[in-house]
Amino acid sequence: MSVAAERIDRLHELAREAARTGDDELARRYVRRARRVAERNRLQLPRRFKRFTCDACDAYLLPGRNATVRTRTGHVVVRCDCGNLARYPYD
Ligand SMILES: [Zn+2]
Repeated sequence: MSVAAERIDRLHELAREAARTGDDELARRYVRRARRVAERNRLQLPRRFKRFTCDACDAYLLPGRNATVRTRTGHVVVRCDCGNLARYPYD
């Protein structure tokens, strides 16, 4: 794993921890930082990261706290508290 990829992983962990302790703004800052690292290094963000972050407001999503997850035929719909919907194939 590249240094940049490790950094993204670490930022993902930090974002999750911040979200768990209720510090949504700090979580957003980590999410944005991870996105910037990916962009600068032309890396794809891990699927896990994409699914737990909101594209619209950069929130780190914790289902049951700031997001709802619904299963539909063949896909999962994640709704952030900001109203943004993301659809993923079911797997
Ligand atoms: Zn959002």
